[in-house]
Amino acid sequence: MTSNPFSLVLHGGAGVLADRSYQKEIDHMRALAGEAKEMLGDGMAALDVVERVVYALETSGLYVAGKGSSPNTDNRYELDAAIMDGATRNAGAVAAMEGFVSPIQAARKVMETTPHVMLAGWGANKLAREAGLEAVDDPKSYYKPAAVPDNRAIATGTVGCVARDRDGRLAAATSTGGTLKKTPGRVGDCPLIGAGTWADQEIALSCTGQGEYFIRSLAAGTAAARVRYLHESPDEACRWALKDVKRLGGDGGIIAVGRDGRVAYPYNSEGMKCAVLHADGRITAGVQDQT
Ligand code: ASP
Repeated sequence: MTSNPFSLVLHGGAGVLADRSYQKEIDHMRALAGEAKEMLGDGMAALDVVERVVYALETSGLYVAGKGSSPNTDNRYELDAAIMDGATRNAGAVAAMEGFVSPIQAARKVMETTPHVMLAGWGANKLAREAGLEAVDDPKSYYKPAAVPDNRAIATGTVGCVARDRDGRLAAATSTGGTLKKTPGRVGDCPLIGAGTWADQEIALSCTGQGEYFIRSLAAGTAAARVRYLHESPDEACRWALKDVKRLGGDGGIIAVGRDGRVAYPYNSEGMKCAVLHADGRITAGVQDQT
């Protein structure tokens, strides 16, 4: 068992370039983990904390999500997000939504104000508008793509957060601008519950990487099932899921927190931007090794 009742992991996407400094992102993620430590210490619910952290990541413009998203091949910004509450297994997601600052806030609205789990396209936009969420009036001036050009067929970027709160509740949230140069209408793993995002009473997970492979391997749901039925640790289960992604030809990373507060953040991509609030209260951050 761990010594502290809460812990959290956040990520700013899998895949880093060897010749680029990520100090700004590392500093930002570390500061955010510090803010989350305060929130969790004050007794805030894991669900609220993961939403707040992902909102901060979306609006920072530092990652390929929210403000930092890249356009699709039609020059439009279609964003995906999902949030899941482990205690109740309530979930909400938006896919290919346009025109709003925070897809994760829209996902939470789907979860809390509709009988559905996911809304896509104009339906998601309509809900966000009716809920009074902050709109992007001029996409051309709002979005500042954070991604550097990448010639891989499926180049990526995403943000996510998983947390265990003082009462032992788990939650997960993921938000993304999707893969670079994606086809209009393309939806990745991130808003698909069980593929890129999952939370139950045993584990909360958020995936990042080449979404098509995470969908085909049902990465988050498979890792959760391995914890539930095979009693693997979060780290073992995530590593198994990543091996399956690799077997299919993809790569990426997964962040997770288990019911006892144990965290995991393995990746098989070239690095993963990530910060960790460990159960002993330490905060580490990095794109390869955590310091
Ligand atoms: N998984 C995301 C997607 O395929 C991208 C990423 O994580 O970088 O949309």
